Amino acid sequence: MSSFQQIDEEERLKDLFSLEILDTESEERFDHLAQLTARILRASNVGINLVDRNRQWSKSHVGIPASGKREDSLCSHALNNGYLEVPDTFADSFFKNHPAVVHPPFVRFYAGVVLHGPTGHPVGTLCIFDTEKRRLTESERELLIALGSLVEREMNFDHERVRAREALIDITRRDAETGLPNEKLFIENMKDLILVFDSEERPFALIHLRVDNLDAITRLHGRAMRDRIIAFLSNRLTAADNQTLLAARIGPSRFCAVIPLMSIRSAFDAALPLVNSLREPIEIEGHLVRADLDAGLAVYPEDSRTAEELMECARRALKSPYGIQHIYAFTPESEAHAARQLALEERLESAVIKNKTYLNYQPVFRSSNRDLVGFEALMRWNDEKFGQISPAEFIPIAEKKDRLSRLVTQWVLKTACKEARRWESNYRSATFRIGINIPAREFYQSDFIYLVKSTLADHRVVADRITLELTEESLITDIDHAIDSMQRLSEIGIKLALDDFGTGYSSLSYLRRLPVDLLKLDKNLIDDIPEDKEARSVVSGIFGIAAGLGLRTVAEGVETEEQLQLLQGLGCDLIQGYYLGKPMDADGALNLIESHHAQNSR
Ligand code: C2E
Ligand code: MG
Ligand code: MG
Repeated sequence: MSSFQQIDEEERLKDLFSLEILDTESEERFDHLAQLTARILRASNVGINLVDRNRQWSKSHVGIPASGKREDSLCSHALNNGYLEVPDTFADSFFKNHPAVVHPPFVRFYAGVVLHGPTGHPVGTLCIFDTEKRRLTESERELLIALGSLVEREMNFDHERVRAREALIDITRRDAETGLPNEKLFIENMKDLILVFDSEERPFALIHLRVDNLDAITRLHGRAMRDRIIAFLSNRLTAADNQTLLAARIGPSRFCAVIPLMSIRSAFDAALPLVNSLREPIEIEGHLVRADLDAGLAVYPEDSRTAEELMECARRALKSPYGIQHIYAFTPESEAHAARQLALEERLESAVIKNKTYLNYQPVFRSSNRDLVGFEALMRWNDEKFGQISPAEFIPIAEKKDRLSRLVTQWVLKTACKEARRWESNYRSATFRIGINIPAREFYQSDFIYLVKSTLADHRVVADRITLELTEESLITDIDHAIDSMQRLSEIGIKLALDDFGTGYSSLSYLRRLPVDLLKLDKNLIDDIPEDKEARSVVSGIFGIAAGLGLRTVAEGVETEEQLQLLQGLGCDLIQGYYLGKPMDADGALNLIESHHAQNSR
């Protein structure tokens, strides 16, 4: 199992030293590969060994460590062979008297694949050995060789990075900013990995990560902060406690990672801890900043057996309609869905400009006496080609793009204010408020407050006719900044509601800091209260905390008398839901005000 090669020892050592790896600390990335080798090849002893002038030094090992004198080293014999395999040292005329065979560790079986330095000289090996004889199968041998090339690439990585810096970046393989592989190198690495995983019939997941708030962060805090976020993400991706086999940066706001799976069904569970660890808030100059991440998942071998196709699948998965916690699995339907989304995005813009969208108003009642207290404005769109489209579908599309999000917000604010003006002119003494949903990203636009103020002024609407509803997502990018915007809105008399409470991060701990007046409990929480005792106590707990913080509460999606009664009993202030009133058009809302007004003035 060898092809002998003459070695120029001085050149070889030059290559080894240029790696600057000897006597360095242990590193997770190598330990990880050593462990992977042990697991895959069921080997008790693994070494990533480097052969110095007079000694062998082990960068990483599993089982028996193999640093020592050069004459005791088996790996040094592998150097001129490219690959050395000795199934039974006792039966080998040369190796049976070798110090490593006749003395501890009494090596009986050895297989080592040579690792090369930056200029191609042999510098060490990835080896496995045992005290029992063993013959590798052809596929095991291929695995060892494939693993060797992963180790070799990793080992040359730092060298490459230094050289790349010197040569003003080798743009063909690495991302200049993070040193992570770029898409090209990542695909090459994945191909090697597929060789390994293929013969083992093991699945893995490819995760495509997209950071959605990088622009917002740059705008708010400048380029340096953005760079810190990128560095954080790249460090997290390669951190020891994360199970990533490969990581890459494939675009300004896009990363990729490969993680091993126990089964193809466990992809989501395996990806979630990694994605969440990337979502952790980081403190930079007193600000808590968090990456707003979407993740697309593709699974090997289920979705594809080739690296390039897997990349495509993960990319397309991001457009899938079925996401949980913003993690999207690839499905064959993703494709059709992506096409529809693109079409909707294009049509929505012109629908808004041409005023083909309209608002519905859903009434909100006081829970104690069922008095009408206001409405929530809900956007509707009836498209000529696609028919009625739910805001649950088109709002997320609009919210992805700054410009479209602004267009929609402007339109909703204007339309709701116009209506508020009309109602007020008719029923001056009626008290009502209109809730307006505001996309998360608006809280980071510098002119948002101005937009609100000027729209109110244009339509002569006083601030206390308006409640702005925001979701917890608004707080992700930079909670302090969001709070600042919220405070400035409060100062002009606008009330704020935290919408869909109980679905997102729902951290009660930061609730205290938010200048909100109203907590809107999501329908999901309300649905279960008649049957589920636990749900009732969660809801009751939230009401208790809200009361303690001086917040009023709204229950959303109340559909039955039973729910209404329970909510009353639990101390909920306001009720919104089909049971007391479905969303209606503007005239319907005006009629409702009229009848309540008449009732109350009787
Ligand atoms: P949301 O702000 O939580 O609005 C409440 C949603 O619950 C509305 O759905 C409403 O029709 C629905 N709903 C209310 N009561 C019941 C009930 O008893 N049963 C059931 N099954 N559903 C009920 P809609 O109108 O489909 O809106 C969905 C989401 O789209 C809204 O959730 C909001 O996040 C967003 N959205 C709607 N209009 C706008 C808008 O003008 N601007 C923005 N930025 N987002 C909007
Ligand atoms: Mg809402
Ligand atoms: Mg809601």
